[in-house]
Amino acid sequence: MTRKNDLHPATIAAHGGSIGDDIVPKIAMATTYGRDTDYALFDPANIYGRDNSDITRQCEDVLAQLEKADAALLFPSGMAAIAAIFRALPSGATVVAQSGIYWGTTKWLRDFCSRRTVTLIEVDAADTAQLGAAISTHKPQITFIETPSNPWLKTVDIAQTAALTHAAGGLLVVDSTAATPILSQPLTLGADIVMHSATKAINGHSDVLSGVLATNAPNAPIWHAIAVDRHDAGAVINPFAAWLLLRGMRTLPLRVERMSATALAFATHFAAHQKIETVYYPGLPNHAGHAVAAQQMTGGFGCLLSVLVRGDAADALRVAGRLQLFARATSLGGVESLVEHRHTIEPHTGIPPNLLRLSIGIEHAGDLIADMEQALG
Ligand code: PLP
Repeated sequence: MTRKNDLHPATIAAHGGSIGDDIVPKIAMATTYGRDTDYALFDPANIYGRDNSDITRQCEDVLAQLEKADAALLFPSGMAAIAAIFRALPSGATVVAQSGIYWGTTKWLRDFCSRRTVTLIEVDAADTAQLGAAISTHKPQITFIETPSNPWLKTVDIAQTAALTHAAGGLLVVDSTAATPILSQPLTLGADIVMHSATKAINGHSDVLSGVLATNAPNAPIWHAIAVDRHDAGAVINPFAAWLLLRGMRTLPLRVERMSATALAFATHFAAHQKIETVYYPGLPNHAGHAVAAQQMTGGFGCLLSVLVRGDAADALRVAGRLQLFARATSLGGVESLVEHRHTIEPHTGIPPNLLRLSIGIEHAGDLIADMEQALG
């Protein structure tokens, strides 16, 4: 059962999943549930592990409240959540998707759309004219955007994209991973479905893979198709992962507030550094998407930023290698800061060889800035 809630996110998150006397929610690892002598279920809500579990529903309830949604569905990863959306489309459908987003999404979408005869139009969605033309020409069933985007930190106007998509008869899906439900609620701006890799800041401790979808139209055919696909294809999160996610979310607003403040201080400090060519961070006033970000994000601009180190791949790798407080690892949104050289991982996807992507954690801002200073040399 999900419900809207006028409480502030800090309160919703801090009480996450506690019901009555249970300060900490119970966890049941059972994959099946018993019936009485008349063969009636002891608890009609629970039949079998793949049909859901109490802890999953409690976690979904908290996520729905944070997103100001009527319903949320958890998945075992962000990619499983994305896949469930597009599998709900009929063959012959059309999708307009933002280009330059998380590479895993682009790669999977290209492959899936070609196998399923779904037409995929990729467009720089931060360019409103290009996006508007693509939507009105192709009339997609789904427009898919990621804002702020990973790793370019481009921002897309959610309300405007929703209006354009609806006028063309489609639905807008927003990957809001980098914004978190604390800084932005795309459903309130007109999006039809919001998606997160909950592996990132929602969990925040780099120890749970998970994804979530939320909507304000739980009776829409697409939501029904997604729920059926999750159940029938078995893309369910395990109870321990849902329990850990609920525990991580108790501090989500605090973590996001701190990470965003530190990321802004870090970005501001290095924006004019002689060894840095460019800092991409939507919180910087000269960032191309700053005005849009300021309009649709409240309380900060998130933990993700990218920098172009002056020089080439070797210079960027040297800086990454010298960092002592940033772990050299992929992913983002954890309490610990991470640095990633995406060009090493995706050499043929247009990522500049001198780009370092940084995920700012909850360490002291001064320590992180000093670490980057010493690594730049
Ligand atoms: N969306 C974004 C913006 C991401 O950064 C990622 C992962 O890095 C995903 C989706 C995929 O999520 P997951 O790794 O949980 O499958």
